[in-house]
Order: sequence, then structure tokens, then C-alpha cells
Amino acid sequence: RGTRGLAAVAGEGVTVPTTRGEVTYANFDYAASAPALTAVVEQITAALPEYASVHRGAGHLSQLTTERYEQARTAVKRFVRARLDDHVVFTRNTTDAINLLAHCVTGDTVVLDIEHHANLLPWKRSGARVVACQPTLEETLQALEAELACAPAALLAITGASNVTGEVLPIRRLTGIAHRHGARILVDAAQLAPHRALNLTSHGVDYAVFSGHKLYAPFGAGVLVGRGDWLDGAQPYLAGGGATADVSDHGADVRWHSGPARHEAGSPNVLGALSIAAAADVLSALGHDRLGLDEVALCDRLEEGLAAIDGVEILRIWPDSEDRVGIVAFTVTGIAPRAVAEYLSDTHGIGVRDGRFCAHPLLSHLGHPEGAVRASFGLGTSVADVERVIAAVTELVDAHAATSGVHA
Ligand code: PMP
Repeated sequence: RGTRGLAAVAGEGVTVPTTRGEVTYANFDYAASAPALTAVVEQITAALPEYASVHRGAGHLSQLTTERYEQARTAVKRFVRARLDDHVVFTRNTTDAINLLAHCVTGDTVVLDIEHHANLLPWKRSGARVVACQPTLEETLQALEAELACAPAALLAITGASNVTGEVLPIRRLTGIAHRHGARILVDAAQLAPHRALNLTSHGVDYAVFSGHKLYAPFGAGVLVGRGDWLDGAQPYLAGGGATADVSDHGADVRWHSGPARHEAGSPNVLGALSIAAAADVLSALGHDRLGLDEVALCDRLEEGLAAIDGVEILRIWPDSEDRVGIVAFTVTGIAPRAVAEYLSDTHGIGVRDGRFCAHPLLSHLGHPEGAVRASFGLGTSVADVERVIAAVTELVDAHAATSGVHA
């Protein structure tokens, strides 16, 4: 696992072609999909030859796989400090998990207009009340409170950390606001869970969702965890085998399971679930607090280095937000985001994302409807990687100034 021990990620040291020859790849796209932890790869490789059907077979491997799958739920519960009677439903990803909850909620949902489309569009379908983001975080919290106070809502659905700016939202306060007005709260933890500890019990969070592929586990599995009553009270999200306790002749009468199985019809993604559990255990063992400290230092350096370059603007939603996960989104005056991203990749072997990050309303709100560049990082990132990004953007801006006759 190299020098990083449990924190080692797959693909470290991979070289990629650039116009200047082979260089070590610098992955600055963790917020899209983080590389798998090597510890996760090892555990899954060990489990791979041993699987058989889940909840269906009587054979030894079926029993073993069923046991491991159920243990994965317990690991997720441990990871987010869920209440004893919370349900953990394995889904395909965060988008799927939010759609599942939206399927179960009766009553209004309140959302903020900074959300990733995954936490906006499922609610819009059922007539969500969208609150406009205000100039400061404090004012935004007040606007949310006013919206919840003016008419009853069933749910406040809100992100734990912005996938565009990395800004972390004050979960405890938001929970207080929701609960004061009789609403529950869903935290979209797709960006938060890989970086900060979640504690559903002490924070009073009713539901949380996240994706394996952002949590150092492979693609294909996500999680909805939270209170069971709404989930058991709704029609199954998917109809089919595994969700049913009893089906009468011609399928006329169906008795559905309660519990997670109710919404998990069909054969589940066992390896995806095991991967999430393995990643969750490693992150807990590494300690979010320590990881957070290292990350804030890298984030500060990246932001400060980029902000010092002429024409670079760092995207921020609020001047008064305090915490941030490893994401820095920026624009460069006179150079399109796509051109910046291509230059970083083609010339320097640095992988970033450009565009509107599935958060079109937020990009418009921030005054960049044309998009931005996002550099996001995680466990495999070093100070040297951060310096590479700063040096590469500096070089690009200098070259642009030289060719366009602008004096930096
Ligand atoms: N919410 C947030 C905050 C995200 O960053 C993302 C992924 N970019 C999603 C939801 C959707 O995640 P997925 O694509 O895994 O469903």
C-alpha cells in the first residue's frame, strides 16, 4: 500500500501522456469520483471468489454472502452513527437514494437553490418549495426558517457540502430549524461523507444519502439511511422479487416486506455494498477529524495560490461560511473553463472537471452560467500536487497574457 498505509488509493503514481512527455497523473477530480482505497480493493478482491445469491440460497456461500451483505448495513449504520431502528437501504447511487426518498415522502419538501440537480429535480417533480440562496449564510438560514414557518413542510432536503464550492453547511443548525417547524431533514452527504464524520443520532439528522464512488469505493452502489416509518409506509420503490413476503394467484394480492428489503427488489449489488462498508470502516479508522485538518491546510494553500494569480476568481457562495471540504472551483478571465481544463490535462497531466457540475442554478447565481473549473482532492493528494496545479494555472495565465498582449 506504499507509504500512505490505510489511506493509500488505487492509481497512485500512474503516469499519463502529455505534450511534454509522460508525467505522474495528478487527480483533482475526487468530487466527481474518488479512486478506490487500496484497502477496499484488497477486501473486495478477497470476497470476489466467494459470492453466491443473497437472501435466496441455502448453500454455504449464499449464507456467507447474505451475512456479509447484512453486515455491510451494520457498517454503514456505524459509519453515520445511525439510530438503532434506522433503515439502511442500498441503492445505485445518491441520485437513486434521493429519488427513493422522494417516492416515500408525502407533503411538501423545502430545498435551497444551491443544490446538485440530484437533490433538486426529484423534489421539483413533487412540487418542492425552492428557497433562494441569500448573500450570507446567516440570511440563507433565516430564509429557510421563514419558508418552513410560513407553511408546514414534511422535509427540508439540503446538501451537507456544496459540490461546487465545497462549503460545508451547518447541519446541527439546519436540523434545529427543520425540527422546530415539524419537518424532517435529509442531508445529501455525497460530498460530506468522504470528508467529515456524520452523526445522525447526535445531529438529529433524519435521513442521509451518499454514493460509494465518491467514498473511495467503486461505482454502482449508494445508500439511503434514516427513519424507517416513511419507508415502510410507502409503496415499494421497485416492484419485484425480494421485496415481497407473499404474492397471491395472478399477482392479485401482494404483501410487501417492511424494512430495507421493501425497496431493494431484484438481486442487489453485493460487491458495491461490501465496498461501501469497507471504505466506511477505513475512513472511521483513519479518523475524519485528522483527515479534515490535513485537507483544510491543502485547501487553504490551493485557494490562496490560485487567488493570487491575475484574473483567477474563486467561487464562493457565502462570505461567512466557515468550513470547506477539498473542493476549489474557479474561473480564469478570458479563458474558457474547458480550455483551462484541457490545458491542465494535455500539458500537465492534471485531471480537473469543468462545466456546471450538475448545479446549473447555482452557477447562474454565482454569475458564471458558462461554468467554471473545479479542482477537488482527497486522500491521495499531496502538497506537491497542489503546487503543480498552482504552477500550471500560473503558466497558462502568463502564456495567455503574452499572446494576447495583456500585461499581467
Ligand atoms: N449530490 C451531490 C452533492 C453530488 O456532488 C453528487 C455527485 N456529483 C450527487 C448528489 C449525485 O451523485 P451520484 O451521481 O453518485 O448519484
